[in-house]
This record gives sequence, structure tokens and C-alpha cells, in this order.
Amino acid sequence: MKVEFYRHNLGEDEIKEVTETLRSLFLTTAGKTARFEQELARFLGVKHVVGVTSCTAALHLSLVALGIGPGDEVIVPAMTFIATINPVFWVGARPVLADVDEETGLLLPETVEGLITPRTRAIIPVHLYGAMADMRGFRALADRYNIAIIEDAAHCVEGSRDNIRPGQLGDAACFSFYATKNMTSGEGGAIATMRDDLAERLRILRLHGMSKGAAERYSSKTYIHWDMIDLGYKYNMFDIQAALLLPQIAKLEENLKRREWICQRYEEAFSRMGGLDFPKVPKGCRSARHLFTVWVHERIRDDVLRYLGEHGVGCAVNYRAVHTLTYYRQRLGHKPQDFPNALSIGNRTVTLPLYPGLRDEEVEYVIETLGAALQELRLA
Ligand SMILES: *Cc1c(COP(=O)(O)O)cnc(C)c1O
Repeated sequence: MKVEFYRHNLGEDEIKEVTETLRSLFLTTAGKTARFEQELARFLGVKHVVGVTSCTAALHLSLVALGIGPGDEVIVPAMTFIATINPVFWVGARPVLADVDEETGLLLPETVEGLITPRTRAIIPVHLYGAMADMRGFRALADRYNIAIIEDAAHCVEGSRDNIRPGQLGDAACFSFYATKNMTSGEGGAIATMRDDLAERLRILRLHGMSKGAAERYSSKTYIHWDMIDLGYKYNMFDIQAALLLPQIAKLEENLKRREWICQRYEEAFSRMGGLDFPKVPKGCRSARHLFTVWVHERIRDDVLRYLGEHGVGCAVNYRAVHTLTYYRQRLGHKPQDFPNALSIGNRTVTLPLYPGLRDEEVEYVIETLGAALQELRLA
């Protein structure tokens, strides 16, 4: 059997919507993008959604829009994807790494508090694997120290915690529609915010800093001049992306149900298996169930990856601790033991297939194959 690490779920609904867009006047940012932004905002229960080209762009624009730059510090977890951190360097600020909770892999408000200095301007909690960070705790902390929160919600469109959803308490929440995410247009992203001022600034910054977008310029019968009022970027979501995404919003809940079922089957089977553990979903949290990772002993992790690959189970590592990667090591100078929980999680992680199209027999095959791997490797 061959079980792909990920298979997308796009079909006739998406093809129809894209075809309609291709036959229409606008290919760039216009009506479909606006409709997607409104519908995602309604789904999330936030005031504004601004569509962009990636989550990385979303994080970068959020930092720029919040005025974060040289001399500033931004606190980020050491267990995340590199895209959480690189935009902090781009704006000239310094990423201050923080260790994560050993049970959940999430950044904790109490860990962050000890790292706040007069130069701290923002915190970027990551809703890792789909489980939300403690946003009520982070909001209280941010208010106390007058700093901003940018949520990396790349894994967490559908999640909630203590009745709070991404974008409701953070200044900005950044989403990814990359090829393997829960909702995808191959590449794409969005920013959710409750703040009118931030939404307006983000809209201007995502398109060169221009005062008017293409659709707005066109909808006037006669030519109208635009102005450039800020130094912006070229990060605007366009209508073909939005067309791919629009039909997926209505399927988010149903797809989550299927992933939740698969996760429960995994958890039930893995609780009975020796030699392996998995991240816990915190109390009060509805996980968006984006990734299912198991933690095996670090001595056998790479052998488990190899065994699964050789037996047709697609797998990955989400993620190795960022401070062990060459660029950050050279630039920030951390030792592996500076963030022991992130280091340990990063050395033990194996990510298994998880998507709504994963069939029951494939789920069972993944469980069996992982069991066989552990048995063989313990004997070896
Ligand atoms: C995928 C991902 C990103 C980057 O998303 P892009 O849309 O590819 O830029 C950022 N953070 C996390 C945690 C991710 O998993």
C-alpha cells in the first residue's frame, strides 16, 4: 500500500468557481477576493480579513503595519516553521526565541513574560498542529506591557480555545493556504483583525502602498488618478486564488470532523503502543487538527522515518527546533540546550498523514506500519 503524506481535496466545485473567474473580466484582486474575505471573516467571527499571497507575507505585512522595525524585539517560539521568524529579520527587528510547553509544543504566556524587555514590541504565538495557544493569557500579558500579538494561525482556521477564535484577541492573525494546509489554493494567505485602522493599513500595504486597487480604479467610468501614500509590497491575493478558496469555506467543518475522527483513531491506537507519545490538546481547546505528529525516542526517529518511507507511508517532520538550523544558529548564537523542550520535540517528531480523503484502511495501515517500525527498531 502507498499512503500519500497529503492529498488535496479540490474537485468540481473549485474547478467551476475558477472557470467562472477565468471567463470574467478580472483575474487580479476584485470581486471574488472581496467575497472570500467577507465569507472567511464571517466564518472566523472577526471584523476584517485581508487576502494576501502567503502566510509569510501576512506575517511580514502585520509587522510592517504595526510599525515594528530596527531596535525592536519580537518574541517567537523555538518550535515552529521558519516562516514565523524570517519576517522579523526582514523588518530589521530581533527575534527573541522562547521555549515551548513539553506536553503541547505551544508557547506559554508565563514563559514569554520572563523575556519581555523595554524593546519588546510583539509576540507571535503559533497555534501549532491546529491547537490554539492561550490567547486569553497572551492578551492579558500584551495589555499589561502594551505590546502587540500577531497570531501565526497557519494551522488553525477552524480552531478555538476558551470560546476565542484566531483573530479575535490578537492584533492580527495570519493564515496560510499553502498546498498542504487545511484549506488551499496552492499558495495563498490572509490576515484577520478586529482593528479597523490595521485592516485599512494592511489593504494599502499589500498593494504597493497605492491609495486605490485595480477594481476600484476600473469601476469609475473615467480614469481616476491614484496616489502612493506608503511604502508597500506586492502581496495582494488575486481572484483566481480566491475562487479556489471560496467553495472550501463551506466544507471546513465537515473536513474537520473527518480529521478529528482520524486523530481519535490514531490516539486510541498509539495510547496502547509502547515507545511513543504524542502532543496533548490543551483543555478548553478545539484543535483544528492540521497535523498529527508522534514523538518517538530520538535515537530511532530517523530510522522510523526511513522505515515508514520504505513501507509506503508518507511522513515528514514538523518541525526541527529552529535554533538548531544553520542560519539561526549563526545569527542568534544559541546552543541546542537553550530551549530543551523545543529541542527534544524537534528530535523526536514524526508527522503522519492526516487529511479528510485518507481512507479507513489507510489509517489502519499507518498504525500497523508504525507499530511494526517500533517493534523492529527496538529489536535492532
Ligand atoms: C505553512 C506555514 C507558514 C507559512 O505559510 P505560507 O503560506 O507558505 O507562507 C507559516 N507558519 C506555519 C506554522 C506554517 O505551517
